[in-house]
Amino acid sequence: MQPADERFWAALLRAQDLPQLADLVSRPSWMAKGACRDHPEVSFFPVRGESTGAPAKAVCRSCSVRAECYAYAVEHEERGIWGGTSERERRQLTRRSAAS
Ligand code: SF4
Repeated sequence: MQPADERFWAALLRAQDLPQLADLVSRPSWMAKGACRDHPEVSFFPVRGESTGAPAKAVCRSCSVRAECYAYAVEHEERGIWGGTSERERRQLTRRSAAS
């Protein structure tokens, strides 16, 4: 399941969170081009201590919308693998960018 799809269904199951659901319905068009859509067997939300997210990052390396995905994840403080990076890696990159 792709990151956007997982978020969509999670929000749908919490129907009381309608503002978030509305946000997901109007998701950016680049999400439809994500390479992750062709790899439903790969988890983009590794469980802490159980995975490095390496399989997901390998899929991201061939993705044509990697830059858009990374920027979206930073802006929305997403969890999991987005744009070929983990949440921790995005925080580190953001801190380094702010410091330079
Ligand atoms: S960069 Fe990775 S997570 Fe983002 S759309 Fe592409 S394959 Fe999916």
